[in-house]
Amino acid sequence: MYSITLIPGDGIGPEVTHSAKRVIEATGLKISWDIVNAGADVYKDRGVLVPDEVFESLEKNRIALKGPITTPVGCGFRSINVLLRKKYDLFSNIRPVKKIPGIETPFKDVDLVIFRENTEDLYSGIERSTSEDSAEAVKVITRKASLRIAKKAFEYAEKNNRKKVTAVHKANIMKLTDGLFLDCAREISKTYPDIEYEEVIIDNMCMQLVMNPSRFQVIVTTNLYGDILSDLCAGLVGGLGIVPGANIGEDMAIFEAVHGSAPDIAGKNIANPTALILSGAMMLNYIGETEKADAIADAVSKTISEGKYITMDLGGSSSTSDMTDAIIEKILESK
Ligand code: NAD
Repeated sequence: MYSITLIPGDGIGPEVTHSAKRVIEATGLKISWDIVNAGADVYKDRGVLVPDEVFESLEKNRIALKGPITTPVGCGFRSINVLLRKKYDLFSNIRPVKKIPGIETPFKDVDLVIFRENTEDLYSGIERSTSEDSAEAVKVITRKASLRIAKKAFEYAEKNNRKKVTAVHKANIMKLTDGLFLDCAREISKTYPDIEYEEVIIDNMCMQLVMNPSRFQVIVTTNLYGDILSDLCAGLVGGLGIVPGANIGEDMAIFEAVHGSAPDIAGKNIANPTALILSGAMMLNYIGETEKADAIADAVSKTISEGKYITMDLGGSSSTSDMTDAIIEKILESK
């Protein structure tokens, strides 16, 4: 019996985490879910964004499945996602982007993984107004954080038979910060002589990705570029509804989709649950339940390629719960 923290979150979060929970349970895995919540909705009810029980649950279980949390734009509270990633030093943000047969896109074979540094860069929250008409933010890059994310990317490439790692940067302009990041990526690359290493400037990378994404296998980059590239790459394979993610530290991991709380479709039972369900599959892989993780990924893939029970974003008309039911049926059939 595993004990896992479940954070439903805001917007479509409660709908898609509920789907993921049902799908994971359909594999037969015994889980005691510790359901605690954080975010804008909790703040409205209780006047606190992250109640103590969330920290307590995370610190006890060391593993969580989390829905998206709304962060106000331009004003208001700072991101809870960034807070959790920094507080627990969840330095690797891993986002696999893979073409699922049945989803119409201009590309035949996209299969890449983004390793985004998750604790520093312009997300360090060091920002100030210098006058009424100017403001500045500090971009923090450290050797420690850059070396460890580069190492994770190369380790992954080696383990998963990927032949190339691409470091993405803007060191032509930000010579000290992105320059340091590149020095670290180069240093790690030298310890993996069998894996090709290349460097691409972020603006060129955006063009290359939308022209020929299949030329990339593993991408390693800093926090802001990784955040933006993740959404861009989601667009290559059918949108935010299908791309999962993980925030992994030394001894804690939080699994969540790349997408946000999607307020435009929240509460309507129309959100695509795939991204959160596949984040759940990543979580099962992390705890060593690889067969059950594969069963979930297969069931998702079959459901999408059949095209009968898929949500609106994929061109269907099914509800979140109907698509979830279809995925569960495939899991039960495979037993
Ligand atoms: P978003 O990802 O919530 O939505 C972007 C677009 O994609 C919307 O049109 C939405 O309807 C669509 N979409 C997203 N997920 C979908 C799904 N599962 N199925 C179908 N369509 C889906 O991005 P946004 O609108 O820029 O952000 C909304 C809020 O989410 C903001 O407050 C932002 O800060 C927050 N956010 C949170 C996280 C997180 O908690 N990890 C990540 C990103 C954004």
